[in-house]
Amino acid sequence: MLRQVAEGVLIHESEFLQSNAIVVQGRAGVLLIDPGVTGYEIACLANDLRELGQPVVAGFSTHPHWDHLLWHAQLGAAPRYGTARCAATVRDRLSDAGAKDRVAALIPPDIAEQVPLDLLGLITGVPADMAQIPWDGPQVRIVEHQAHAPGHAALLISERGVLVAGDMLSDVLIPMLDLNDTADPIEDYLAALRLLEGVAGDVDVLVPGHGSIGGADQVRARIDQDRAYVHALCDAGVPRDPRVGPSATYGKDWLPGVHERQLQHLARRSERDGTPG
Ligand SMILES: [Zn+2]
Repeated sequence: MLRQVAEGVLIHESEFLQSNAIVVQGRAGVLLIDPGVTGYEIACLANDLRELGQPVVAGFSTHPHWDHLLWHAQLGAAPRYGTARCAATVRDRLSDAGAKDRVAALIPPDIAEQVPLDLLGLITGVPADMAQIPWDGPQVRIVEHQAHAPGHAALLISERGVLVAGDMLSDVLIPMLDLNDTADPIEDYLAALRLLEGVAGDVDVLVPGHGSIGGADQVRARIDQDRAYVHALCDAGVPRDPRVGPSATYGKDWLPGVHERQLQHLARRSERDGTPG
């Protein structure tokens, strides 16, 4: 079911990790950002759009993780985009014959059979010097950073006051650092939060990749919460964060031990480099 969160911007929420697919209405059809997770849900979204007489004219993946790279034949054959770095990462990771088996192994077993991998990751990079998505609709500015995943894009739809945050600023998931692709995951994360802070004044509606939609007050509150978590991680402290531990919505069942793994990884890294954090 589609729910309007701002003029011409609608959300379709998945049962998996409270994932949000975002529909932006343009002149001749819609831009679909991070379409969703199970085949059934994406087909349902495609049906809703057909009933509204709104074909998908463009797609966008915020970052190169499987749950943001999916597509379904019923959505049609519109061009699908990501940042140039996101597209290059996807090409790199999915080019060999065993790639889809590796991806399938990452998917929680209870939904694995429902996730359509046929059209996974078929995206084109937006040239690095192009700061917006090429499509016929409200301007969608690409705010690229290297937190969480290579070439991660937050999207600012200024005319509608909407920030699509991808996998940051979630009220249900802790910041998950990109521990494999970057020399300084902590600083990359903090730099991304500063970038988002820089556009916060233009935002009335915050749409995270996973979690609840937030109002203007939530943008700064979640930036502060994410920053506090990253600082606690850096100091190897215990974050006072409702997204960690037994009270966490998804921490136990879907993503157990993420916080502990991040702590251990950073401890090993600082031991190796002889630097704190
Ligand atoms: Zn992700």
